[in-house]
Parts: sequence; structure tokens; C-alpha cells
Amino acid sequence: MNSVRVGRKSVTPAAGQCVFCGIVERRQPSNIVYEDENHIAFLDIAPFSEGHLLVCPKKHGETIWEMDESEIGELFMLASRISRAVVSAVHADGFRFVQNNGEAANQVVAHVHVHVIPVKFADRGRFMDRKKFTSEELTEIASRIKNELNRP
Ligand SMILES: [Zn+2]
Repeated sequence: MNSVRVGRKSVTPAAGQCVFCGIVERRQPSNIVYEDENHIAFLDIAPFSEGHLLVCPKKHGETIWEMDESEIGELFMLASRISRAVVSAVHADGFRFVQNNGEAANQVVAHVHVHVIPVKFADRGRFMDRKKFTSEELTEIASRIKNELNRP
């Protein structure tokens, strides 16, 4: 499939330097909470809230335009499924899906991803800023989310 770029500028790094492909291939450390044949989900390293994670197709593509409709459907179905586990794991009151395409949309990593961002009533109306968690805290949060996902 042709690479369709959003806007004038691409955020695509040189092939082989994609951070998310690095996570898929275990060249980059990350807190993975879910993986199947075609998808991977892991905690955002600079989260807006406890449990903020990214759901990605394993196949590299810069924007959602590089995916076919069934792939897009599967990605969002999975994001929806994972959102339930995350909301439960961190006792959130709601969640956001954010899916940025192109530099103008503040897409930082040029590999399609859906942000799942849990939100709480307590944070309502507050400016969303990046939170700091220790690696121990992130490991613990990831393990709670995995437990929720494995619940029958
Ligand atoms: Zn990639």
C-alpha cells in the first residue's frame, strides 16, 4: 500500500529507527500490557494519567490511512476492550481515546497508535499534563491492567 502522508511534513524516522517497532521487537524497553499476533499495547512513558497506554498495530504504518478498514476496526475494538481493563485497574471514572495523525496533529511517533487515557472526576477541568511515575510504579500499574485483561 502506498504511504499516505498527512500534511506537508512527515514525522517518519529512518526505517529501523521507529521506537514502537523497537518495542514490538523488544529492542526498546516498555511496560507491555497486551499482545496478540497483530497488536501490542504498552504504557505511555510520559503519561497524562495513571494507566495511560497506547494500542498499536504491530505492522509499521505512519497514519491510519495506511491501514485497511478491517485493521482500523480491529484496532479500535481492541482499544475499547483494553479501556475497560484500564478504567477498572486504576479506578477511573471515564477515559479518552486520542489518535493523532501527522505532525500538525502533534503525532510524535510515526507509528499508528491509539492513546487510551483514563480520567477521574477529581481531575475534571484540570489542565492535562504529563505525570511522572517511577519505573516500579509503571511496572505495578501494568501488572494491574494485565490482571484485569486476564479476568475471565
Ligand atoms: Zn514502527
